[in-house]
Amino acid sequence: MMVVISGPSGVGKSTVVHELLERIPGACFSISATTRPSTRADRPGKDYHFLSAEEFQRHVDAGDFLEHAVYAGNRYGTLIAPIREQLAQSRIVILDIDVQGGVQIHNKMRDALAIFILPPSNEALLERLRSRKRESEEIIQMRYREARREIEQAHSSGAYNEFVINDDLERAITEIESIVANEQARRSQLNTG
Ligand code: 5GP
Repeated sequence: MMVVISGPSGVGKSTVVHELLERIPGACFSISATTRPSTRADRPGKDYHFLSAEEFQRHVDAGDFLEHAVYAGNRYGTLIAPIREQLAQSRIVILDIDVQGGVQIHNKMRDALAIFILPPSNEALLERLRSRKRESEEIIQMRYREARREIEQAHSSGAYNEFVINDDLERAITEIESIVANEQARRSQLNTG
């Protein structure tokens, strides 16, 4: 089963995804390809496959991507081959992708489960973006506007099955775990019934 997790930056998405990978039996991570430069926090080949613009374009031309998109000026894409392999092994494949990607997956793979993580409020979102103390106020405001646009798109696209509010990290993770478990149970009933 494919599980798409999306949400604006500052919503705690990567922590949620990390915890889901630890807790859900048989879960694995879909390692995206990207042209963005790797940072010190990235583990190449584990978090992302870091590609040059030319390499990325070659995969596009070869039709290797299930979806791809431009985010903040860099290209990101999900390679089909490893996902096929993992689905064949009945694994739960977790994709951390943006809304543009979520919409493409929704159109191609109707049985993907797509979950969007929401901040508790707009104020909380702005607060979280500020608390990272990484960027100037101007950049923070830009990310905030971008995040609000992404939330609107997620709602209007119809691509997401569930919206989970990250008011409390542990509660949000538990909610997603049970959404995934319920969906698994529903599918196995459909198969045996
Ligand atoms: P970051 O560069 O901060 O790791 O990721 C930026 C954004 O790109 C995040 O919203 C992340 O979910 C999204 N992203 C990561 N991989 C992919 C991908 O393969 N496809 C799409 N569409 N978005 C991705």
